Amino acid sequence: MKSSLSLSMFIKLFLLLALLDICVSKSVFDFFYFVQQWPGSYCDTKRSCCYPITGKPASNFSIHGLWPNYNNGSWPSDCNPKHPFNQSQISDLVSRAQTSWPSLGCPSSNNIKFWKHEWSKHGTCSESVGLDQHAYFQHTLDLKDQIDLLQILQDAGIKPDGSFYNVSSIEEAIEKGSGYFPGIRCNFDASRNSQLLEIYLCVDKSATRFIDCPILPHSNCPSQVEFPTFGADSGILQLATPSSPNYI
Ligand code: 5GP
Ligand code: 5GP
Repeated sequence: MKSSLSLSMFIKLFLLLALLDICVSKSVFDFFYFVQQWPGSYCDTKRSCCYPITGKPASNFSIHGLWPNYNNGSWPSDCNPKHPFNQSQISDLVSRAQTSWPSLGCPSSNNIKFWKHEWSKHGTCSESVGLDQHAYFQHTLDLKDQIDLLQILQDAGIKPDGSFYNVSSIEEAIEKGSGYFPGIRCNFDASRNSQLLEIYLCVDKSATRFIDCPILPHSNCPSQVEFPTFGADSGILQLATPSSPNYI
């Protein structure tokens, strides 16, 4: 009697845990934010930045991440600790990722730590729409190639030259050039000037198609922001050591 009771309790507990696991890891979100960062602004802070050991990134927007989101502005994160980042699954994408998804965090790294973080925090949540690690990275890199933000801004006379630009003209230029109204986030340079740090675009759950944003991220930019340069030698390889953050 006692053993059949504890067996039934064990089965119930097992089923409950399985259900919890399904709810936590498989909750389906509504869309992705595809977030790109301006390296000049990431580096142009009191804290500065470190170039990856693979070399100084090009003077171009680079990927921060592809983030599952709900229409109400909340988002899931760290959905599946059972699927940690596995570098061997993206070996064919590493060269593209080094160019388009470099890490500017300190100390200098080979970018893997950044990709690992983005996969664990955001990528594992996209398993609920059928994306495995390879598909998640491949789609993210493909999205970067679909819309050339720097070209769009330059075509509108908005250049990374240290000048200040109206946020509304940045938004309008991107909407005109890409067809989609962006979200904009800023940070401060060492003199507390606000500068253009990140541009958010929205993508459907297939991770292949840009869409109008169901909800824009809260903007923390004033009406005018700086668009700083990213060094004169953009594109030229330059190695950095962990102890020597790069100043632009
Ligand atoms: P911050 O507080 O600097 O805006 O964001 C810190 C981190 O929280 C981001 O790098 C990202 O990982 C996550 N995060 C911030 N805002 C959002 C959002 O709207 N959606 C998702 N999915 N993640 C976000
Ligand atoms: P998130 O803000 O996405 O949650 O966290 C990003 C993490 O990756 C932070 O720990 C940040 O220090 C690190 N990181 C490394 N390189 C970069 C980079 O180039 N951009 C951003 N935003 N974070 C980076």
